[in-house]
Amino acid sequence: MGARPRLRPFLHQEALMAQPSPILTGLLCRCPRCGQGRLFAGYLKLAQNCDRCGLDLAFADSGDGPAVFVIFMVAPLVILMALVLGAVASIPPWLHLVIWIPVTVILSLALLPPFKGVLVNLQFRNDAHEGHQ
Ligand SMILES: [Zn+2]
Repeated sequence: MGARPRLRPFLHQEALMAQPSPILTGLLCRCPRCGQGRLFAGYLKLAQNCDRCGLDLAFADSGDGPAVFVIFMVAPLVILMALVLGAVASIPPWLHLVIWIPVTVILSLALLPPFKGVLVNLQFRNDAHEGHQ
């Protein structure tokens, strides 16, 4: 009788550890359940179902989360790189714009799918959804 409550959390932990890492599968843009199927049908458009395990991805709604995380990561990084370049080499302001605007755009576009993948994977893993009244 007393062993059951202690065993249950252990089994739950073991089951969670058997699942693929939500961070890793998210960064690879893979299915949160099997870790194999593709998550996206387009650049940021989610597939309807996982092509490997058939998981219905209709639950996924990351909203603006990926864009916020990308902004918070790319902006300080680009500012830091611009400051370092400005300290190391004396270059005119227009050259900073020519360098850092494309870097900002490319980094942001490159990081959006993996960040969205991580948030969708974490949403699945934690069974997160909007609250209801
Ligand atoms: Zn799958």
